[in-house]
Amino acid sequence: MNKKIEMTIPLVEMDGDEMTRILWQMIKDILLLPYINLKTEYYDLGIKERDNTDDKITYDSAIAIKKYGVGVKCATITPNVDRVVEYDLKQMWKSPNGTIRAILDGTVFREPIIVNTIQPYVKTWKKPITIARHAYGDIYRNLEYKVEEPGKAELIFTNNEGKEVFRETIHEFKDTGVVMTMHNLDKSIESFAKSCFNYAFDRKIDLWFSSKDTISKIYDANFRNIFKKIYDKSYADKFKEAGLIYFYTLIDDVVARIVKSEGGMLWACKNYDGDVMSDLVATAFGSLAMMTSVLVSPEGYFEYEAAHGTVQKHYYKYLKGKKTSTNPMATIFAWTGALSKRGELDENLELMNFANKLETACIEIIDQGIITKDLDGLSEATNKIVVNSEEWLHLTAKHLDILLAQN
Ligand code: NAP
Ligand code: MG
Repeated sequence: MNKKIEMTIPLVEMDGDEMTRILWQMIKDILLLPYINLKTEYYDLGIKERDNTDDKITYDSAIAIKKYGVGVKCATITPNVDRVVEYDLKQMWKSPNGTIRAILDGTVFREPIIVNTIQPYVKTWKKPITIARHAYGDIYRNLEYKVEEPGKAELIFTNNEGKEVFRETIHEFKDTGVVMTMHNLDKSIESFAKSCFNYAFDRKIDLWFSSKDTISKIYDANFRNIFKKIYDKSYADKFKEAGLIYFYTLIDDVVARIVKSEGGMLWACKNYDGDVMSDLVATAFGSLAMMTSVLVSPEGYFEYEAAHGTVQKHYYKYLKGKKTSTNPMATIFAWTGALSKRGELDENLELMNFANKLETACIEIIDQGIITKDLDGLSEATNKIVVNSEEWLHLTAKHLDILLAQN
């Protein structure tokens, strides 16, 4: 056995819930701890510990990411009424992801893991398409009104001195109808833009940004202008030097271009567009279990996780003593993403190399046809064998040993 890889600065490790919590430990035991003297600062974001600490643990973990720069998170339960009963919670705690995002002020990037034996539904796609979704405002913070009688809807802006600066009629209703208003903040759009430029530059991929500024000449044009201002000021030179393109166009134009493209770009979307398009792109690439997610803050903090949840149904099977065939790919890639970023920041080439080899091992194992149940209908490998999670991890470790022995 070779010497284990050393780390200097810890990763912020955020444990989670249910089946992914079980996978988390298996991944550490089988694929990480035998190879790395893993240095982490551990935060248990499992639902019971969040409840015991009145959710302080979630805040503390986000602060730790600000301190160390890189975190890796297991999927966690976002409590609803059923969960409050199931776990006898003091209250319906907020989504940990929402809390962490509010503290780090980041943007979430979702990227599919590509393997040769699973073909995207769009046959031209060869490289991953990453979606960045703006996570503030628009219809998610709207004000709506159901008009039940004839009358006038107006938009009024009054400044802090009490002066009415703007008043216009939205519509004079002759009959019933509906009205909606929405807003966004320059600060939020700026940090969204910076996160997108940072991510694209970091990954050395082109950035496409879309909105509908031909129709929305002030609102969407404000997004376009802020992106352009930040690009010109801080990124244009860097992008040109790296041979990268920043490109703005209309959302309908992007949709048409994306479907005909070979992929490989970051597509920055406004809040609603990102909500819709991320599910479309994820599904078109194959499986939720193969989708990774990373939160990037404008200051350059990174938090890696799987895009899927805690895989509750599999957990109930596991509790009955049954082995489950849950796909650990996205959770492993959360770890490799975080380890690789840690390695990059600390100039730890060995750690980066390990993360890279582990990703290759996982992809090659799937391409050999060794798969979890969710991929059975998707994989076009010739000799398919469906195994349980633990078997899959051990077979991947064996293959990793071969790859690591090659240099
Ligand atoms: P989910 O955990 O993503 O699972 C939905 C279904 O997708 C599963 O039942 C399973 O289908 C399939 N699936 C997802 N990941 C898989 C994997 N790794 N391997 C194999 N199959 C996989 O979503 P959910 O059941 O709606 O949510 C469960 C809990 O997760 C909720 O409490 C929710 O709050 C939480 N959640 C957390 C996050 C996060 O922390 N980022 C995100 C989303 C949801 P089959 O049952 O058909 O096999
Ligand atoms: Mg959605």
